[in-house]
Amino acid sequence: MIKAIFFDLDDTLLWDQKSVKEAFVATCQLAEQKYQIDASKLEEAVRQEARELYSSYDTYEFTQMIGINPFEGLWGNFNDEHENFQKMKDIVPTYRKEAWTRGLKACGVDDQEFGALLAEEFPAQRRKSPFVYEESFRVLDRLKESYRLLLLTNGSPELQNTKLEITPELVPYFEQIIISGAFGRGKPDVTIFEHALEKMNVTKDEAIMVGDNLMTDILGASRLGMKSVWINRHNKERNEVQPDFEITHLEELFSLLDKLNK
Ligand SMILES: [Mg+2]
Repeated sequence: MIKAIFFDLDDTLLWDQKSVKEAFVATCQLAEQKYQIDASKLEEAVRQEARELYSSYDTYEFTQMIGINPFEGLWGNFNDEHENFQKMKDIVPTYRKEAWTRGLKACGVDDQEFGALLAEEFPAQRRKSPFVYEESFRVLDRLKESYRLLLLTNGSPELQNTKLEITPELVPYFEQIIISGAFGRGKPDVTIFEHALEKMNVTKDEAIMVGDNLMTDILGASRLGMKSVWINRHNKERNEVQPDFEITHLEELFSLLDKLNK
């Protein structure tokens, strides 16, 4: 009998990829206006430079373990407790400036000052562009009638809380909100799933994990022997990680849960 549903946040309930995309588009348009460079080329270049820089810092292993991606590094401030978050806080101002300046350079523009300006514009645009999937609230509204809900998200507490602050309607649905950076380990580590079960006082057979990421949400749940639902909206290829169920829309959860609890 399933009593509790654990939801991932980014790209499961919140459409983070679209928010990031919109912030890139708006920021890169400034460069297109000033220097007549192709905005989409600049976006690609900055994404590339950001990935490379991000993985070169000695905080990389920590960000991988907690689950903080390079584009979150482009707008997060990391005012979080933990030595590694302090390190990130020191790194990110330079990281942002460098990523944007190098991206510009890759498009033939050498302008550090403008790079710094774009680096500040991106976080402002990201904050302005929250997107929630159109079905998220409808689905949560119905599920909360019959199930207890928990949010299990990887990331910096400050940044994940910022996402929740700019979409304040989400928080009241959840009995518990667990953020990996505050717990100390991220999905797919089994300990964070165990922690979530404890917090809800349910067994692994009474909970189900819903998420978009095979390597974190689904892998972690399966390591624990907890049932999982992979939300695959964009027809991604499967890998060796096996979800118990695969859906393309959150509304499919209703019939799936009805069947499980019959
Ligand atoms: Mg996700």
